[in-house]
Amino acid sequence: MRKCPKCAGRLSPLFFGTECKHCGADLMYYHFDERLEQDAQKAAAQEEKVKRVLNKLPFYRKKQ
Ligand SMILES: [Zn+2]
Repeated sequence: MRKCPKCAGRLSPLFFGTECKHCGADLMYYHFDERLEQDAQKAAAQEEKVKRVLNKLPFYRKKQ
């Protein structure tokens, strides 16, 4: 069962529209937004890991 990300209202699996029939939220936009946020979090975590590894290298720290 699909759910509206905004109002958590139930959406029929046979409903292929892009607007929630309960609150009118644009479902395409919400799903897209969610994905973007997940990608951003993943990228930030990856960057943090790389920084930690690089800071362990003394020659890298001297350059900064
Ligand atoms: Zn809704």
